[in-house]
Amino acid sequence: MFVWRAIEEKIASAVALRNRGINSLDTVCKTCGAAEESAAHILLRCNFAERTWELVTNWLKIPMVNVEGSLTDLLVETSEVQRSKGVRKAIYAVIIQTIWILWKTRNEKVFKGRQGKVQTVIEEIKEASYLGVKLRSKHGSLTRQEWWDFNVMF
Ligand SMILES: [Zn+2]
Repeated sequence: MFVWRAIEEKIASAVALRNRGINSLDTVCKTCGAAEESAAHILLRCNFAERTWELVTNWLKIPMVNVEGSLTDLLVETSEVQRSKGVRKAIYAVIIQTIWILWKTRNEKVFKGRQGKVQTVIEEIKEASYLGVKLRSKHGSLTRQEWWDFNVMF
């Protein structure tokens, strides 16, 4: 659900609030200070998001995503990689997890003043997606090390 709301730019980013007529003084991204804070900026174009995607795609052994594209493009691109169906499902789960954690990290920065680190975000993505894949699938024997290396045979 969150992903689709983000795609529609309806998340409560500063720009979205302003567009809805809620008076917001500051629509600049709190992470880079260099651009307006749209959903596509927070989740793709911001340098923090871009570094996160570089590390995530490197880990998944897939091509870097197009951070200039839309969130829909991102979901299409990553669901069409040349892998087995099982691996594609795992990749898709990681992509969704990454979007979610980038959003959560942005909120912690804006509302709690907490400075996120890319390395921490990556570890969070790996751990959350590992638990998700283990719980929600038939890959109960998957070890943390196999997942960390993305050495998976689904
Ligand atoms: Zn930014």
